[in-house]
Amino acid sequence: MGTRGREIVGIELPRLLKLLNEAYASEWLAYYQYWLGAKLIKGPMKDAVGAELTLHATEELNHAVLLAGRIIQLGGEPALSPKDWFDLSPCKYDTPEDPYVAVLLDQNIAGEQCAITTYKNLMDATKDKDMVTHNMALTILEQEVEHEEDLQSLREDLDLMVSRGRR
Ligand code: FE
Ligand code: FE
Ligand code: MG
Repeated sequence: MGTRGREIVGIELPRLLKLLNEAYASEWLAYYQYWLGAKLIKGPMKDAVGAELTLHATEELNHAVLLAGRIIQLGGEPALSPKDWFDLSPCKYDTPEDPYVAVLLDQNIAGEQCAITTYKNLMDATKDKDMVTHNMALTILEQEVEHEEDLQSLREDLDLMVSRGRR
């Protein structure tokens, strides 16, 4: 990264790179969890939910693109091996062992809630210190907030459908 661009970063670089790499690892795990879930999904509304999971997968991958770009710009190195993703990620990978729609939705809602916390923390750490990362974290956070809402509203629709079907 350019010298002046680096001078204006008011947070210790190793700490910033660690936070960025943690988020980066989470995004790859989120991408795979969504991508595979969309392939395996079973049950009512599986087409609508599967389409949303596929879209979210591409959006998580784009978050990884943004993070890798910023890490490299700061002179760091994105996690070099997928083996590192589990250790680095603050959010867990929920194995889609049960492909039922409601189970996948609940797993991914938990993942989004963890992502929201991750970007809130990144924003707090960079506030007034690294405007470029701060702004990127806000862009991603906005999308994670949208993801959580999309999934919770699908979960609500599914509940309504299932309970009405029982009457
Ligand atoms: Fe994401
Ligand atoms: Fe997300
Ligand atoms: Mg969506």
